[in-house]
Amino acid sequence: MNSLSTISGIGPKTLLKLRNLNINTLNDIVYHFPSRYIDFSHITKIANSQINTNVTITGKIISIQNIYTRQSKNLQRVIVKDDTDQIHLIWFNQPYILKNLKAGMVLSFAGTVSTFGNQKTIINPEYGQYHTGKIIPIYPETRGLSSKWFRKTIQSYLPTLTQISDSLPSSLVKKYHLLSLEQALTQIHLPKNSAFLNQARLRLAIDEILSVLTKSYLQKKNWLEKSPNKKIKITTSITKKINTFIKSLPFKLTDSQKKVWGEIREDLVSKNHVVNRLLCGDVGSGKTIIAILACYLTHLNNSLSLVLAPTSILARQHFQNFSLFLKDTKAPVFLLTASSRLDTQKVPKNSIIISTHSAFYQKKSLVKLVGLLVVDEQHKFGVKQRSFFSNLNTPPHCLTMSATPIPRTISLSMLGNLSLSTLDTVPKNRLRIKTFLVPPTKKIKCYQWLKKQITKEKVQAFIVCPFIDNSETLTSVKSATKEFAYLSKIIFPDLKLSLIHGKIKHDEKQKILKNFQGNKINILVTTPIIEVGIDFPNSTIIIIQSADRFGLAQLHQLRGRVGRGTAQSYCFFFTESENEKTINRLKYLQNHHNGLDIANYDLKTRGPGELFSTLQHGFPSLKLANLSDFKLISFSQKILQDIIKSYPSFDLSKLAKNTITDSISN
Ligand code: ADP
Ligand code: MG
Repeated sequence: MNSLSTISGIGPKTLLKLRNLNINTLNDIVYHFPSRYIDFSHITKIANSQINTNVTITGKIISIQNIYTRQSKNLQRVIVKDDTDQIHLIWFNQPYILKNLKAGMVLSFAGTVSTFGNQKTIINPEYGQYHTGKIIPIYPETRGLSSKWFRKTIQSYLPTLTQISDSLPSSLVKKYHLLSLEQALTQIHLPKNSAFLNQARLRLAIDEILSVLTKSYLQKKNWLEKSPNKKIKITTSITKKINTFIKSLPFKLTDSQKKVWGEIREDLVSKNHVVNRLLCGDVGSGKTIIAILACYLTHLNNSLSLVLAPTSILARQHFQNFSLFLKDTKAPVFLLTASSRLDTQKVPKNSIIISTHSAFYQKKSLVKLVGLLVVDEQHKFGVKQRSFFSNLNTPPHCLTMSATPIPRTISLSMLGNLSLSTLDTVPKNRLRIKTFLVPPTKKIKCYQWLKKQITKEKVQAFIVCPFIDNSETLTSVKSATKEFAYLSKIIFPDLKLSLIHGKIKHDEKQKILKNFQGNKINILVTTPIIEVGIDFPNSTIIIIQSADRFGLAQLHQLRGRVGRGTAQSYCFFFTESENEKTINRLKYLQNHHNGLDIANYDLKTRGPGELFSTLQHGFPSLKLANLSDFKLISFSQKILQDIIKSYPSFDLSKLAKNTITDSISN
C-alpha cells in the first residue's frame, strides 16, 4: 500500500497541501529530504548551558506567563528549572503555546541560549520528543505544513516508510561500505550523528547519479545496436579528394580541428553502428568547417547530409558558407527554410541540405534518405531532433555541435551515450575581447566612446537587450523596442541604427542583416537572437544591457559575436544590479575567456539549469547529488561498471528510473 491516507492525520486537506510539494505517495514523503539540520544533540544541565550554543535542556515548568509589553507586543514566557539552575523560554505572539504547556510538567526544550532582559533565555525553543535532544531536520515547507509537522509525521512512521526494496544488491552495498537504502533513508530523516548523516547523503546521492549513468548507458547500448542508414566508406580516391579539399581552404586547419576531424572520420567509417557524436567547441573555434568536411565525406559516399540550424538566419549563413567552401567540388548544396522552398524531387541523393528544424519536418519524404544529420544547436542539444531520427529503424549518423563547453562531470554522467569531440583551441591571430562591467553612472561615457569608435574607425556594434516588449514582471529589463527609440533619437541621432528581433518578418530581417553586412548600419540593436552563430567580422563592439539577466555561458556566447576579425574587440556588460554576488559573477568574465572554465564556474555557482539556460527541460531533478562533483560521479561509475560485470542478470532499468524525469541525452 503506497497511499498517503494510510498515515493517521493525513486527511483530504493535508493531501492537497502535500500536493503543493509534489508529494503524492508514501515514497514521495520519505524522499522529501530535509534541506538542512540543526544540531540539538548537546544535552546539558541548565547551569552548564553556554550562551550562543545550541542545547537541549530538560526541566520542570515553574511559571507560565502571557505578557503584553509597553510597545503592545505580546510574548509568552515560561520559566523552567532543573537541579542546577533555571532558564527563561520566550515566544513572541504565540499564545496557543500556553495551551500545551502547564506548570509542573517536565519537558525537554531545545534552542540557542542567549540573554534576554539580563536572564539566560532560549528564544523560540522547540519542545517535545520529535524536536529536541538530537539533530533536527528542517524540511522544505508549504503553507500549513511546517517542518514540525514533517518531523513528527516522518519520525513516527519511519520504520514503515523506509520499507522500500533496495535497488542495489546487498553484497555490492557491503563491498563499497555503503548504507543500505533503509538505513540511508532512516538516517537522513533521523541522523544518529553527523557521520551517519554524511553516509546517508552519500548513499542517496549515489543512487541519483547511478540513475543518470544507467540511463545514458542504456541509451548508448540501444543506439549501438542499430545499424546505420548508410555505411560510410573511405577509399583511396575519397581520401585524395578530401585532402585536395582541405588544401584548397583559405586557412590551415588548427591542430585541434585536425584531431577532431580524425575522430569524426574514424567514427563514421570504421564502425558498423550509428554515430552519435557531440562536437563541442567554443564560439569561433571553427566547428563549421568540420561539419562541412563530414558532409563532404557523406556526399562522396553518395548519401544525403542534412544540416539543421536553430534559426533561418543561421541556416542562410551556413548555406552561404557551405556553398562558398564547396564551390570547387561537385557537391550540390541546397537551402530549405520556410521562405526558400525546395522541390524535393529534384534533390540528388548526394546533396547537402541546409535547413531549420521547423522547415525540415514538413519534408517527410526526405527523412529516410538522410545519411548524416548535423544539428547545429549551439548550446542546445538537439534532443528532439535526435529522438525524431533515432526512432527510425535505421537512423542517420548524428553529429551535434554545441558551443557550450561540456564540463567533464556532465559529459561523464549525463552524456555517457554520446561520443565527445572537443575543439579546445581557437584559430590563432585572434585578440582577446576586452571586457568591461559598466555601472549606470558610466553608461553615457561608454556611449560617447562607442560613437567615436564608429565615426573614426568605421567599426560596427551590437547593443543587446534581453526582451522585446516591456514585461510587467521584469520592469527593469530594457525592452529592445523602447531602447531602440531612445538610442536612435537621443544618444546616437547622427548614426544609423536598426532594430532586429524574433518578431520581425523574415524578408525585413534579411534586408537588415544585408545592410549590416554592407556596413550601411552602424549599430544593430537586438534581442539575444544574434546569439546564435552570426558571423560579422567588422563588428568589434558589443554592449549587453541588463547583463545580470543572462547566464554566464550565454553572455560568453554573446561576447563571441565580436572578435571574429583581426581587430581588437570590446564587450561591455551594463548592469544596474548592486548585488555583490551578481557583480562578482559578471566580473569573472572580465578575466576569463575560456568557455570550459566559464561553464565549470557556472555549474559550480548556479547549477546545471543556469549553465544550459536555454534548455527548457531535460535536467534530472537531483536532490542530493551535485553534477559538478567529480569524485561522486567517478565513484558511481565504478559501481555501475561493477554491476554490469559482476551481476549480468541485474535489471538495469530499475536503476535508471530512480528520481529521474528526463535526460538531455535522449
Ligand atoms: P563556430 O565554432 O563558432 O561555429 P565558425 O566555424 O563559424 O566557428 O568559425 C569562425 C571563423 O573562423 C569563421 O570565419 C571561419 O572561417 C574561421 N576559421 C575556421 N577555422 C579556421 C582556421 N583553422 N584558421 C583560421 N580561421 C578559421
Ligand atoms: Mg557556429
